[in-house]
Amino acid sequence: MSGPPYPSYQSECGWNALLPKREHVEVLANDTRCDVAIIGAGYTGLSAARQWARHAPDDQVLVLDSSEIGEGNPGRNSGFLLEIALANDANAKQLERMKNCNRLIAETMQEIRDVVQSSGIDCDLQRSGTYRAAAGTTGEMALDQYRAFLEAAELPFQALNRDQLEQKLGTRFYRRGLYSPHCYLAQPAALIRGLAKKLPPSVTVYERTPVTQMAQIDDCWILTTPQGSVRAGKVILANNAFCKGLGTGRSRVVAMYTYAALTGRLPDELLASLGSDKCWGVLPAHRLGSTLRRTSDGRLLVRSFYGYEREADNQLIARMLGDNLLRRFPQLGKVKFEHVWSGATGFTFNGAPIWGEAGPRLFVSAGCNGGGVVKGTLFGRVLVDKMFGLPVPDMNQLFGQASWMPPEPLRRIGFHAVAALERRRGLAEV
Ligand SMILES: Cc1cc2nc3c(=O)[nH]c(=O)nc-3n(C[C@H](O)[C@H](O)[C@H](O)COP(=O)(O)OP(=O)(O)OC[C@H]3O[C@@H](n4cnc5c(N)ncnc54)[C@H](O)[C@@H]3O)c2cc1C
Repeated sequence: MSGPPYPSYQSECGWNALLPKREHVEVLANDTRCDVAIIGAGYTGLSAARQWARHAPDDQVLVLDSSEIGEGNPGRNSGFLLEIALANDANAKQLERMKNCNRLIAETMQEIRDVVQSSGIDCDLQRSGTYRAAAGTTGEMALDQYRAFLEAAELPFQALNRDQLEQKLGTRFYRRGLYSPHCYLAQPAALIRGLAKKLPPSVTVYERTPVTQMAQIDDCWILTTPQGSVRAGKVILANNAFCKGLGTGRSRVVAMYTYAALTGRLPDELLASLGSDKCWGVLPAHRLGSTLRRTSDGRLLVRSFYGYEREADNQLIARMLGDNLLRRFPQLGKVKFEHVWSGATGFTFNGAPIWGEAGPRLFVSAGCNGGGVVKGTLFGRVLVDKMFGLPVPDMNQLFGQASWMPPEPLRRIGFHAVAALERRRGLAEV
């Protein structure tokens, strides 16, 4: 099963709903041509577009997205911008490689910060750092592995016990945790909207314009969309898991849905019970755990659970996320979410991206594995450098290459079997 060529969701994106409605959305409604077409206006696609315009300001760059900016996948995440590798990627045994990855990721975070500051993008970007916390034995084992990595890499952190976490976050749910300063938090829908608005003049973004088919004719690509077509000299696939719907990465990436919910602004007496930190983020030590955030305007966000290749019923998910939050903060009483939504991540078996040349005049960067805001920005930029023949870091050596997965139905059966096993092991973390 190759899946649909673009995503659609049951519920609106909560972060986007907090922002003013956008006045104008440009939809492609004719046949046109360009030097390069980028499919996907996420962090990867917009970074590629910015870099193309830097190298060739007179080229015409088209970015096509199936959704609206802010409402689509890039606006649906939890807003953690990590300056170092994710806990799941961290490996003290491969220190040299990890240090090089971290250097590139840190440089990219600096680049995002510069764009946000110089363009005046109002997305509440703050270097709040991040907590990683464990509630059970499996989580503690993962936390120890992460600690070993931080120590080996000589990265600063602070270890916290249950009482210290309660003092900072207002919950006794976690046995222990690690605080690392290497993370920014942002309002993701505001961030992606700002990045799209501040693109150079040679870049045009078409929204609500899904690419449904691609065909190679002579020395160019013809992209079909519902109301028009594009004849492009080169194509960059930056549409994450949905690249496989357009014929690339079919045996290497799947769409994994995950879910988030945001409360309304909590009353002051409840906020007073939520610890001394006013704006924080907690990432789970174990990959099946839940992400938590307290926003600077006094809301709580919780993200958890996974759906293989399709979205589960959002009402059921809302109840499950509500239980999650209450286990951590019994003082909330009955939780009322203002928004519950899902988003699709590009999941690969070994956690590595699909990155590089995929065919004649066709390039791809996909497979974010749930942590692609900064990494996607890096991969999009370096991919364009490579297309321009510039010297680039060996991304496949540094970040790996997405490995092969068995075809359906074996893939689905395998995923459900591994997920069931992991869920049992990581139950306390959910
Ligand atoms: C609930 C949730 C929480 C997350 N939390 C975090 C987090 O805190 N930090 C983090 O770094 N990452 C997080 N992620 C993952 C993060 O959202 C992704 O890693 C990131 O968005 C990847 O960027 P991207 O540009 O590669 O792909 P995407 O953001 O997926 O963008 C791809 C774009 O392509 C478009 N598209 C797809 N198919 C087509 C088509 N056929 N034609 C035209 N357009 C198409 C989509 O509409 C989308 O806009 C989270 C994800 C979810 C769902």
